[in-house]
Amino acid sequence: MIQKIDHIGIAVTSIKEALPYYRDILGLEYTDTQEVAGQKVRVAFLKIGESRIELLEPTGPDSPLAKFLEARGAGLHHIAVKVSDIQASLSDHKKAGLKLIDDEPRMGAHNMKIAFVHPKATSGVLLELCQRP
Ligand code: ZN
Repeated sequence: MIQKIDHIGIAVTSIKEALPYYRDILGLEYTDTQEVAGQKVRVAFLKIGESRIELLEPTGPDSPLAKFLEARGAGLHHIAVKVSDIQASLSDHKKAGLKLIDDEPRMGAHNMKIAFVHPKATSGVLLELCQRP
């Protein structure tokens, strides 16, 4: 049911400052930047093999990501796994009594259905389940 690591999310204070390293030094292909209004973040997408690195920047001081950066600084924010059926995956988590951040899928960037699993369920990693449209 899990198909691959879809992307790794990295929290940054500024995409403008963070992007040159990933694009110019690592040589990753930058594709686009999108704003995800529901999460108050702006996301820059870079291809790395069949996966992506996403640089996440808060769009305002009230963004949950701004609070994350304040508490922990820039760094690894989440790992996203691509699933074939996000509803089935969420119900597996619920049946096992695992803590979820999202009980139901919501819309992420690129029209993906996403849902976050609480780090308490995953040994400390914020995990995102995502299903492509
Ligand atoms: Zn993500």
